[in-house]
Amino acid sequence: MPPVVRFAPSPTGLLHIGNARTALLNALFARREGGTFVLRLDDTDLERSKPEFAAVIEEDLDWLGIRPDLVVRQSDRFSLYGAAAERLRGMGRLYAAYETPDELEFRRKRQLARGLPPIYDRAALKLTAEERARLEAEGRKPHWRFRLDHCVMEWRDLVRGPSHVDMASLSDPVLVRADGSYLYTLPSVVDDIDLGITQVIRGEDHVTNTAVQIQIFQALGGPVPAFAHHNLLTTASGEGLSKRLGHLSLKGLREAGLEPQAVASLAVLVGSAEAVRPIKDLDELARLIVFAHISRAPAKFDEAELEHLNARLVHELSYEDVKERLEALGIVGGEDFWVAVRTNLSKLSDAAEWWSVVNGPIAPAIADPAVVGAAAEALPPPPWDGSTWKGWTDAVKAATGAKGKALFMPLRLALTGRDHGPELAPLLPLIGPERARRRLAGETA
Ligand code: GLU
Repeated sequence: MPPVVRFAPSPTGLLHIGNARTALLNALFARREGGTFVLRLDDTDLERSKPEFAAVIEEDLDWLGIRPDLVVRQSDRFSLYGAAAERLRGMGRLYAAYETPDELEFRRKRQLARGLPPIYDRAALKLTAEERARLEAEGRKPHWRFRLDHCVMEWRDLVRGPSHVDMASLSDPVLVRADGSYLYTLPSVVDDIDLGITQVIRGEDHVTNTAVQIQIFQALGGPVPAFAHHNLLTTASGEGLSKRLGHLSLKGLREAGLEPQAVASLAVLVGSAEAVRPIKDLDELARLIVFAHISRAPAKFDEAELEHLNARLVHELSYEDVKERLEALGIVGGEDFWVAVRTNLSKLSDAAEWWSVVNGPIAPAIADPAVVGAAAEALPPPPWDGSTWKGWTDAVKAATGAKGKALFMPLRLALTGRDHGPELAPLLPLIGPERARRRLAGETA
């Protein structure tokens, strides 16, 4: 059966590279297995969820090259959650509890003081009908807890292997708040059943929800999906990534001009058994995903590593890959220009600098008038090609005796106004005889 998977962000902030990891593991797994990739926007928190964030999430996925087959919004699906809650109530698995947060906190402290685990004592289950009526007459509105089955739950996580939880060690989770709003747990399970999700691939921060969710799947009679909890990414100094870290947001990386494949390669491969390297093709990246090989330790996300990967990727991009983007930057030097400069770029947008060097005007720097003067004399007639440089500099060397850096640096400074840059042999024909002659004469051209 082809898999159906989902990426389920809440649109309350910008996605960061750690979220990209979850999105890519889902989307690429579905792509490889001929399955379906669903984007589920977990927007039940109507206060904090914003359509702007949802729109950016879709743009981010699009930029990464992973298009959802289906987009659903939890805010469109409240009636399903209401019906599920009703069914659970009917089965006696969802019960009304009336404690205020202060009362719960007081009990928790008392349990801790006695050396007991701070687990909800199920006092609400013991309320008589009169007691309940009295609480409601006081104006208390109930919140709703799922009655756990106190067994030991066992399952095999696709990343973490055999897992188990003694359910008696957990409090019955609140599924519906007193104001009728839902916590994440129930809508997630209802949607996973409704959409036929076969694998729940998500961050390790949700491991603790798994056993509870399996019991809800079972109570609602839905098939229980497999679970794959991947390790989380931390900053280089070991802190968790937060949606507030704007500079590590996908939007920020996108706006900084990084290549989506560099971001995707790092997001997928860091903390796996594969060496982190730039993978241009998403199908190839998809083939490298092996859930059981994902490390259980947190993986460090290093911005410098991302920049390095980005540069490696840019160096390998073909002219076809970048033609349109170069043209959008006003760079119309064609394939010869791209091949001449690409290995000098950290980001594709750096090509603009070299385009302005080729195309001018730039102010030349005349460091050694004797060498530059002789070079101007020795300029060969057009047409120029990739071999012109060698013949020309041999002639300048013969005329002046200058060689090595003493020969090349004055020429570089005069032709480009810079002391570093791409190889000059392919650059020279792009600069062309007219501009070269004027620059060697010290003119801005
Ligand atoms: N909205 C949840 C989150 O962003 C989804 C968790 C899940 O995938 O089940 O963490």
